[in-house]
Amino acid sequence: MTVCLDDPSLLIADSFIDGQWRSATQRFAVCNPATGETVAEVANLGAAETREAIAAAEQAMAGWRARPAKERSVLLRGWFDQILAHQEDLARLMTAEQGKVLAESRLEITYAASFVEWFAEEAKRIYGDIIPGTADRRSIVIKQPVGVVAAITPWNFPSAMITRKVGPALAAGCAVVLKPAAETPLSALALAELADRAGIPRGLFNVVTGTDAVAIGRELTDSAVVRKLTFTGSTPVGKQLLSQSAETVKKVSMELGGNAPILVFADADLDAAVQGAVASKYRNAGQTCVCANRLLVQDSIYDTFLEKFAARVAALQVGDGSDENNTLGPLIDSRARAKVSDMVEDAVSAGARIATGGETLDCLGPNFYQPTVLADVTADMRVFREEIFGPVAPVLRFHDEAEAIAMANDTEYGLAAYLYTSDIGRVWRVSEAIEYGMVGVNEVAITSELIPFGGVKESGLGREGSHYGIDDYLDIKYICMGGI
Ligand code: ADP
Repeated sequence: MTVCLDDPSLLIADSFIDGQWRSATQRFAVCNPATGETVAEVANLGAAETREAIAAAEQAMAGWRARPAKERSVLLRGWFDQILAHQEDLARLMTAEQGKVLAESRLEITYAASFVEWFAEEAKRIYGDIIPGTADRRSIVIKQPVGVVAAITPWNFPSAMITRKVGPALAAGCAVVLKPAAETPLSALALAELADRAGIPRGLFNVVTGTDAVAIGRELTDSAVVRKLTFTGSTPVGKQLLSQSAETVKKVSMELGGNAPILVFADADLDAAVQGAVASKYRNAGQTCVCANRLLVQDSIYDTFLEKFAARVAALQVGDGSDENNTLGPLIDSRARAKVSDMVEDAVSAGARIATGGETLDCLGPNFYQPTVLADVTADMRVFREEIFGPVAPVLRFHDEAEAIAMANDTEYGLAAYLYTSDIGRVWRVSEAIEYGMVGVNEVAITSELIPFGGVKESGLGREGSHYGIDDYLDIKYICMGGI
């Protein structure tokens, strides 16, 4: 076994349908991106098993939605306790299949658990309304679970993207069929095992693992029983799923790509800005949708910022995430590395200058890339326009506030943006003018279970987390009570 767990029974390689572990003769390898070793051979299921999982979810939901909210809450709280009790094992499993450094995996597990805790509490607060009207009638609004939920999740946050969806769905009284990314199914399966140990009834949380995402996705979107699709992943796949969901007019939540700018103004605390830029850009080796993708720096401090920033980046320690000395792990696979490498070459050939990095790290393995800073980047380069999803920071100049805002908005994305400034008026002007769902002011660690996470433009639809997050799993029903 290539991952050492205190509780080895959390390393599970079968799917979970209707409360049963489902094996298959066809299997696919889950590989450690740092070492290339096979961590597990996982059951490769498809459309038929997805159909079974949908049927199981439909049946399980009938009883679940009728249970008192407090009972749902207590069971979810039990799942939260199970996750925390096994957090170190879950973190090790995540580093083994995803590659992120262990310190980040540990943080993700507590982050993932926090959604289950939060929505266990929110389960009891699904309030309705009574709308004042005429004397002979009362207008009542109640909220009801939307129905069976399909969840499709990515590999960059193998646990948190699951609990952020399954937590509110179960709290609202829904049942879920989850298709995790084929790169990282082990975190999902361990979460299902812990939900089962907590007594979450069978059929409510189904996990279908498989490599044929198109077939599984099609089954989920074509089903009339599935009333809601929640997806986190790339914008092209999100658009595809959105159009497939139109056939049955599903409720949808989409957390898609980003192209986050960090705006650093001349009046900023420069050291804080440098530290924030490093933390935001290089988290998860640059593979997060809220990662700083473009560093926009005001002319007068551009050179000083660049020098300090490049020095900090050059000091990052790259290697296997399970070694606690390392601060930056590998990319998910060699295809991801090739894309990052191509984007750097494109920028350099168009006139960008490498301030640090810029090379593959073949001595460590086929998935490692040096943490890189590109200076003199311009808006026509791929690194400005596309989501990089790797440890590469393009740094650009701006002249004044108006230009900074225009550059920040010069993208089809609108997920997260950050600004560093000490001018309170500017904080308001810029925060309101930039077209993003989330803005960090003098802060890059902006996510938690307490806040509404989500984007505008082609970055998505809906919000996850916070007291708004449960709305995506509820339908509003209006009841007109007459004859009074
Ligand atoms: P990433 O670039 O992060 O891998 P993707 O959008 O390709 O993002 O993948 C996110 C999730 O969507 C994964 O679980 C993947 O298997 C799934 N997926 C990819 N293509 C499809 C599709 N056509 N239908 C349904 N799910 C898909």
